[in-house]
Amino acid sequence: MNSLAQELVELIRQEGPISISRYMALCLGHPRHGYYMKQDPFGADGDFTTSPEISQIFGELIGLWAASIWQAMGAPASVRLIEIGPGRGTLMQDMLRAARALPGFRDALSVHLVETSPVLRERQRTTLAGSGATPQWHERIDQALEGPAIVVANEFLDALPLDQFVGTPEGWRERLIGLDGEGRLAFGLAAEPDNAVTVAAPIGAVLEQPAVALEAVAAVARHVAAEGGAGLFIDYGPTCSGFGDTLQAMKRHAFVDVLAEPGDADLTVHVDFARMAQAGLAVGAAAHGAVTQRDFLLALGLQQRLEALSRRATPAQAEALASGAERLIETGPTAMGELFKVLAVADPNLPPLPGFDLHRLPEQG
Ligand code: SAH
Repeated sequence: MNSLAQELVELIRQEGPISISRYMALCLGHPRHGYYMKQDPFGADGDFTTSPEISQIFGELIGLWAASIWQAMGAPASVRLIEIGPGRGTLMQDMLRAARALPGFRDALSVHLVETSPVLRERQRTTLAGSGATPQWHERIDQALEGPAIVVANEFLDALPLDQFVGTPEGWRERLIGLDGEGRLAFGLAAEPDNAVTVAAPIGAVLEQPAVALEAVAAVARHVAAEGGAGLFIDYGPTCSGFGDTLQAMKRHAFVDVLAEPGDADLTVHVDFARMAQAGLAVGAAAHGAVTQRDFLLALGLQQRLEALSRRATPAQAEALASGAERLIETGPTAMGELFKVLAVADPNLPPLPGFDLHRLPEQG
């Protein structure tokens, strides 16, 4: 048992079973043992690889997307470019390089990063040292939101804690983490049903309540609806809501037992994009998408960007660029182009946003 597991067992002995959200929050954010707090988990040698780490084209296209949002906003003299959960800082670095194409945007923007991990803040500082920007770090989203804003978050919502409920003949009972007969962490159910959950309960179904993620999207949506701008959320998950337990743990690019190594494996959930879009609409923002990552990146000109970069590359570099780009848009139920979705919440006064226009319905005859 690792140190965090021992601490959790002690906590449960004293206070009784804990919610899934408390478990996730401690596994990821415990000040000493939390997964993101003590290490840089990315890349081939790490536990998982994200889109910005696969190809520079990802961040460059999102940088151009941000530039065109700024133009659509009427090119304000100052705008915050905010990234939530920036990892190694690679996405921001690539965005800023692409933003140079539009000097007015480059001069108007200030860079704001929302990051809780001291290790990753340091990593971001190093990555962005030569970018010409002077980033400002914030602990929480609401601290970063001020004035006209363009907000980007890749693989952030999947790291936010959620609660789970299981359908039983008595109604929804919360899924909790307690101890088994041998004193090890084990899943169980709350003794009493939770009457606050009003959705009908099919027996055995798992209902997830992503309250923290919904509030994160709502906070960004509320802000851009009032102050101007847009927020872009990219993550894995379905476009339509459904039942199911999506909690998963990953270590060294393989799935592992969710309870086996708390704080030493990445813990994520799938993002319910229909509900995230609803959260944005409910506070007065427009919602665009969700569309697949493939459709979004192709609509933004992935192919053209790949060709332009390849013309200046050696054959080996061109090969690497092509395979990276292909991985971002690959189809198949577990491939990045299809499993990953893109949702924007925006000021409703903005025109249709780039990247989402492939999904307009065909004209009716
Ligand atoms: N966007 C990056 C990293 C994704 S991993 C990429 O695509 O490579 C999730 C990121 O969110 C990490 O930087 C992690 O430290 C950060 N994070 C997790 N929980 C957070 C929270 N509650 N507030 C702010 N950042 C958080």
